[in-house]
Amino acid sequence: MSTPPPQSSLSPLSRPGAERLVAEAVDTGRLERAPAEQLGEQLGREALREAVLEGAFEAKRRGKGDLVSVSKNVFIPLTNLCRNRCGYCSFSKPPDSPEARTYTLEEVAEAVRGGLRTGCHEALVCLGDKPEQAHPSYREWLAQRGFATTLEYLVQACRVAFEGGMLPHTNAGVLSAEQMQALRPWNASMGLMLETTSQRLRGKGKAHGVAPDKDPAVRLRMHEEAGEVGVAFTSGILLGIGETAAERVDTLLAIRDLADRHGHIQEVIVQPFHPKSGTPMGGADPLSDAEVAGWVALARLILGPEMNLQAPPNLAPQVLELLLRSGLNDWGGVSPTTPDFINPEAPWPSLGELARRTEAAGQRLVERLPAYPEHLLGRPELFDTRVREAALGLADERGWARSRGPRAGVEAA
Ligand code: SF4
Repeated sequence: MSTPPPQSSLSPLSRPGAERLVAEAVDTGRLERAPAEQLGEQLGREALREAVLEGAFEAKRRGKGDLVSVSKNVFIPLTNLCRNRCGYCSFSKPPDSPEARTYTLEEVAEAVRGGLRTGCHEALVCLGDKPEQAHPSYREWLAQRGFATTLEYLVQACRVAFEGGMLPHTNAGVLSAEQMQALRPWNASMGLMLETTSQRLRGKGKAHGVAPDKDPAVRLRMHEEAGEVGVAFTSGILLGIGETAAERVDTLLAIRDLADRHGHIQEVIVQPFHPKSGTPMGGADPLSDAEVAGWVALARLILGPEMNLQAPPNLAPQVLELLLRSGLNDWGGVSPTTPDFINPEAPWPSLGELARRTEAAGQRLVERLPAYPEHLLGRPELFDTRVREAALGLADERGWARSRGPRAGVEAA
């Protein structure tokens, strides 16, 4: 029998009560667990949610001014094989599926050339988790090319992308410290969505019931080790996979704690779950756009004004203006040349449209590299020397990306 979600016993907040909690968080630069849970439980109430949005926007203004960044990238799904079976995932395919695909190194090089032609700086390399441990035919595919593990192959793919002129950002699932060390000479940054700290969701029939790499302890350890190795790191929370408000708050606090101790968390993604037909969670209800904006705002108050906070624009294209009021300062990677392979049903907005709508909301879009300016310029220990030099060569004096081609409306900061 699976464990039911814990019930809340928090008392209702008045709007003035919520405003007091929010104002204190804006002034101190962080929202602590008890008030965060209280606000989080009641984000469904519009008046209270508006108070949270207003505070989050003020916190963003204090930390990031009027800038909202975007990274122009080429998305390379190196392999869509995976050893896990997350209930919401349509990216992963079994090896006998006609849609199963592993890129050859030549295909990686071709994707990189496509990115260069369209002015991209980032190669976003994504793949399933340790597929060789589950799929003998894929192990054979690797062995025929002289590789014993996906990691060995991934290192070569990143090398091809880096030597081709891109700055790779790799998200390969759970990696050990040694594996991150092996990738570091070819990557500007790496990432792993923490997704959730809820152990409950590892239960039978839950989102992570058949996903050993989604054990929160395993993912927290990788975050910790990324800090120890010295990697500019992306984390994030996945909203709407069965977690409670208190578990969302716990996830955000865990990321904040890691950022406080290591300073390596360069951005936090707030990503809503999108139901995909044909998956076990295809019939589950996602959060409403208003709730997503409320959680972006609460994340801003918890994480503070300095954290880079990202919400993907293709997952809420109708409400970019609402998101822009909720305290985000980054749209993440947007590709002029490749789809979002994780959410293929959700096309990217054009950079021109993003720029127009960001500006209409009184903010300015600026292009960044996979590493953020404050990390690239102020935290050299988070980068391999050669990768940092390459990144600095693509950056202006403030650390933002210099144009290498069609910018489609993105302004200089
Ligand atoms: S680990 Fe990632 S790729 Fe694998 S099944 Fe889960 S969401 Fe899909």
